[in-house]
Amino acid sequence: MRIGHGFDAHRLVEGRALILGGIRIPFERGALGHSDGDALAHAIADALLGAAALEDLGSRFPDTDARWKDADSMVLLAECAKAVRGAGFAIVNLDATIVVERPKLAPFIRRMRENIAACLAADASCVGVKAKSSEGMGYTGDGTGVAVHAVALLREAIT
Ligand SMILES: [Zn+2]
Repeated sequence: MRIGHGFDAHRLVEGRALILGGIRIPFERGALGHSDGDALAHAIADALLGAAALEDLGSRFPDTDARWKDADSMVLLAECAKAVRGAGFAIVNLDATIVVERPKLAPFIRRMRENIAACLAADASCVGVKAKSSEGMGYTGDGTGVAVHAVALLREAIT
C-alpha cells in the first residue's frame, strides 16, 4: 500500500469559471489559473502521483507551456492516473476536502465524485469529496481563494 498527499489553491476572480472536479459551479467568480484552475482535480492528481513517487502535476504540465493554457484538468488528471497505473499501481481510494467559504458545494458533491471516478476508471464508492468553510478566516474564508487537500491510497497491482 502507498499513501499520497496533494494540495492546491487558486485565487478566485471575476471573469473566470469555477470548475471543481470537472463540474462547472454557478458562481460570480472563478479560479484564476493557467489551466481551467480546477483545484480539486489538481490536488487529487498530486495525491495520486505522490503516492507513486512520480513527478508532480506542475512538472508534468508546466504553466509556462502554452499547450496547457485553459487545459481541461480532468484530461490532465486522467493522464496522471494512466501514469500511476503504468508505474504498476492500482487506485484503492481517495479523499479530498475543498475549503471555500462560498458558494455552497453540497448540491454538486455527488456529481464531482462520479465525474472523478469516471475519469480515473474507478468506482464512485472509492472517491470521497467534502466541502468545508474556514469560518471567515484567511484566504479561503474571505473569498479570495479556494484550497483543496487530498489523499490517495494505491496498492501494487497484481500482474
Ligand atoms: Zn491548480
